[in-house]
This record gives sequence, C-alpha cells and structure tokens, in this order.
Amino acid sequence: MPSLVVIGAQWGDEGKGKIVDYLAPKAEWVVRFQGGNNAGHTIVAGGVTTKLNLIPSGVLRPDTRCLIAAGVVIDPEVFAAETAKLREAGLDLSPRRLVVDRDAHLVLEYHRLIDAAREEARGANRIGTTGRGIGPAYEDRANRSGVRVAELEALGQLRPRLEELVAERNVYLQAVLRSEFSVDFENVWRAVCKAAELLLPHIGNGSLILDRALRRGERVLFEGAQGSLLDQVHGTFPYVTSSHTISGGVATGCGIGPKHMGHVLGIAKAYSTRVGLGPFPTELHDQLGHRIREAGVEYGTVTGRPRRCGWFDAVGMRRAIRLNGIDSLALTKLDVLSGLSSIKVCTSYRLDGNVLEDVPSLSQDLERVEAEYLELPGWSSDLKDVRSWGQLPVELKAYLEKLSEILECPISIISVGADRQATFVAESASEILAFIR
Ligand code: GDP
Repeated sequence: MPSLVVIGAQWGDEGKGKIVDYLAPKAEWVVRFQGGNNAGHTIVAGGVTTKLNLIPSGVLRPDTRCLIAAGVVIDPEVFAAETAKLREAGLDLSPRRLVVDRDAHLVLEYHRLIDAAREEARGANRIGTTGRGIGPAYEDRANRSGVRVAELEALGQLRPRLEELVAERNVYLQAVLRSEFSVDFENVWRAVCKAAELLLPHIGNGSLILDRALRRGERVLFEGAQGSLLDQVHGTFPYVTSSHTISGGVATGCGIGPKHMGHVLGIAKAYSTRVGLGPFPTELHDQLGHRIREAGVEYGTVTGRPRRCGWFDAVGMRRAIRLNGIDSLALTKLDVLSGLSSIKVCTSYRLDGNVLEDVPSLSQDLERVEAEYLELPGWSSDLKDVRSWGQLPVELKAYLEKLSEILECPISIISVGADRQATFVAESASEILAFIR
C-alpha cells in the first residue's frame, strides 16, 4: 500500500511533525485531514527550527506536494502569515505545491471571538481550548452555516448570507455570552475578500487528486494533528478537540475510501503529556514531572502553555491502538528519560477496587482511577548519537521490548532527539522502509 497514516496516539504533541518530515522525502503528497491552526508541529532540520500550524509537515521536502484537505478548518489570516514566513525562508509554496480543498471551511473573526467568550463564560468548567476559533468553525460546519473555500469563488452570493450570519453571531456574543466584543461586518468582509485572493489560486478537489494519486501508486502520507485521546467522539470527552483525530478521520476528512489507507503509524512519547485541562491518571505533580517538562521542553507550540507531564500510560495507548488500527508505533523523546534510575509504565487502572478493561467514559471516573505501574530499570547514557537499534543501551532495549509486549504492537521507529537525523527505523518495519527508500 503506498499510503501511510501518521496519528498522534496520546493527547497530542507526540512529535508527529518531526516524524512526518522524516518520512516525507519520497512521498508525493503530505495531507492534513483535520483540525486547524490549533495544531503546532515543530521540525528541526540541520539546526534550523520550523514551526507549522496549518501547512502540512511535508513542506520542507522539496519534491513533496502538500494538501490541506476538506476536513481541515482554515483561518485565512494564519494561512497568509504562515505561507509568507515559509516563503521568506525560501520554500516553494506555489499553487502546484500547496493545494487547498474547495470543501474546507473557513475560520473567521466571529469564531475566534465566540471561542474566547465561551471559555470565559465557562469559568472553572472551561475546556482549555487554544482559543483559535476552531471549535466554533466546526460547529458552523455541523449546523450548515459555515463558509467554505469554494464560496470564495462566488463572493456576490456569499455577501448577503454572511451579513445575516454576522448579525446573528453578534446577538449570540452579546446577549448569550455577555461578551464586550462584537464583530464589524465590513471587517469580516475585507478579510473574506483577502482570503479569496490568497486561497483561490490554491483551490483544488482533494478527493479527486488523492484518488488519482493513490490509483497511480503514488506515495501519500496522511498527517494527523492533536492526538487520539482528544478525538471528538472517542477521546476523553468533554476535554477533547472538535475534529476526528483518529485514522477514520482520514477517509471522512479527505473524501477517499478507507481501502486507500495503508500502514497506520501511531506516534507516542516515551512518557505522557497533556496541555489544557482534563483527567490525566499518570500525571506527575512532583519534581520528576518538572524535570521531564524541562528536559523535554514541554511547552505548547501554539499557546506556550506548560504541558502537564506524567508516566507512559499503556491503558490509554491500548485504546489508541484499537481506535486507529495502529500497525506500529514510533516512540519519541526517549532521550528525555535518560538518567532516570527507573522508568514506570502504567499497565492498568483500578476504580473502586476493580481493574478496568478500558479508559472509562465519564471524566469524573477517569479523574478517580488509580494507575498501577510496572517499574523498569532506566538507562544513563546519552542517546544523542544513537542511530541504530544495536547502539541502544541494554536497559532501553529491554524497556522497548517490554512496552511492545504489553501493548501487543511493534515499535517501528525510534526518536532520540529533536533533529531529523536523530531517528531510525527498525529493520523489521518493512512497510515503513519501503515508503522511505
Ligand atoms: P506534534 O504536534 O506532535 O508535531 O509535536 P510538537 O511539535 O508540538 O512537540 C514535539 C516537540 O518535541 C517538538 O519541539 C519536537 O522538535 C520535539 N521532539 C520530537 N521528537 C523528539 C525527540 O525524540 N527528542 C526530543 N528531545 N525532542 C523531540
């Protein structure tokens, strides 16, 4: 199968951007299929750091084309700023190289304002969203009032509809959310006209493009954003994102059949992090949590918020493996754990004396579970220059073998540093090797 699906297997920030960039040089297409600029991917190549929010992580590979599929919500102002920055860095972002699906929805000013006002109104019950308007834009898609990229081709028809929409959203902002802000229609209109100028040269039919590419046998890499446990339906509701982050989201987000999905690669850190609110059974509130945060530079790419850190959670991971049909895992940030005398892995949850088979549905239950751990010996050596399985310290090899056994899932890729080079693929991972060679 010429396609590879890369999915975050935890609560996001697993290092997907780095792994996608690593896997992309031979890919004809790298495709974002869900989310918006609430995603933040960091890629380090040759000492240069690139941060991406909306543009697929294949952009650094000159022979790879990028598609923002229909399932993504696009903030045109972010698109403008991000593409300008990447062009300044010398990258080709011509319409041939960067295609935007005509059915993708737009994030507009009122979405951002509603997002912020709603979080404010929730007070102590807030979700901890990135405040980028992503949730409200998906809501508008579901309630059939969203604005799609294709509508930028018929601005005359869009204007009266948008006028009504803005008036209605202002009532909601002020009368319901008691916001001090309202939206000026002419401002929104100016932004929409600018968006038309910017996006229309890139417009395409993603479903057709991908179907043709896949039938021709071209290599396509689908790049997930956020993580499986943040999936709109299957994540730790209500502390979830507003899109389908799991592999099923590829088919709905791109408009292609599931038979086109090849190897599903789950990306996981060797520990857990969570940004924003929500239950986190293996969270470390002590000095060790702090040490992991500092060593792993666990601060949000989008918001700069410190990420909460904890031990690897095999219960959540088994769920992610099932939700996505993960074929193998890429384990990142192993270097961050170097120097710890022992490493813990949560193997089960106990609630009111009972061992649970899966992550509970109610957040108040997940809040109360007791994590049960397996403790394994740590390793002390620096992993900076490790580039093969054979060079790994014995304790680390034993840790990886145990993890794979607990999860009943092979580990195909190892990442021991932020740089593109600090990565290697297991010789047994034939589907992944075939994709990159
Ligand atoms: P993404 O959203 O899943 O792409 O993840 P982020 O980019 O938000 O966060 C991952 C961070 O970890 C980035 O700053 C990466 O450069 C960095 N990173 C990725 N893999 C490794 C690794 O193996 N070791 C270390 N130390 N950093 C890594």
